Amino acid sequence: MEIDVAKNLHDVLDILPNGVRLVAISKYHPNEYLEAAYNEGQRIFGESHEQELSKKYETLPKDIVWHFIGHLQTNKVKYIAPYISMIEAVDSLKLLKEINKQAEKSKRSIDVLLELHIAKEETKYGLSIDECRNLLKNGEWHYMKNIRICGLMMMASNVDDENQIRSEFTNASDFFYEIKKDFFENDDYFKERSWGMSHDYKIALQCNSTMIRVGTKIFGPRVY
Ligand SMILES: *Cc1c(COP(=O)(O)O)cnc(C)c1O
Repeated sequence: MEIDVAKNLHDVLDILPNGVRLVAISKYHPNEYLEAAYNEGQRIFGESHEQELSKKYETLPKDIVWHFIGHLQTNKVKYIAPYISMIEAVDSLKLLKEINKQAEKSKRSIDVLLELHIAKEETKYGLSIDECRNLLKNGEWHYMKNIRICGLMMMASNVDDENQIRSEFTNASDFFYEIKKDFFENDDYFKERSWGMSHDYKIALQCNSTMIRVGTKIFGPRVY
């Protein structure tokens, strides 16, 4: 391992304000990289592929808190439902229903975030602000007893223009407070704003992020 995971991890942790957590994004990195971060005290890891995650889950310490951060196909939910702590990128009612169903089968409750699509890129998944509001207005989620909607997740456009990134995070933050008031006013668990990656987490921290998802900055470039 040529990369100094411990140092990189602490560089990120050292500037985290109180109440903000780091999800170490370990996709495509082998177990020894995760273990290096684990040995420094890191417990929350994020993965985006079901098979890779399941392998790591089976072979790494059981007190790791796993977040699924990728696009999740409904037919894959059943494999991770027994152990996943948070599914961050829920972008349809169909997926939400399936998570609830599989969580019930596992006699668990699964925390989820709704993924917003605010970035300009066409290829990204996620709900537009209107779609997200409509999903909440629709109200079916009230009857899903085995999930908790804990907040929002989003990715900003992959650009150098800091103003654009900042404006996308700010839109997401404003929308968070709108739906907090309209749908989750008395739900203390609805508090998460998952935004900020290696290239933009410092901006995200200025825009009300509670959860940054950083991979490359800690583990180095991924080998696909
Ligand atoms: C890969 C990934 C990250 C981490 O990206 P880095 O640029 O390596 O920090 C964060 N969020 C999501 C959804 C990802 O897929």
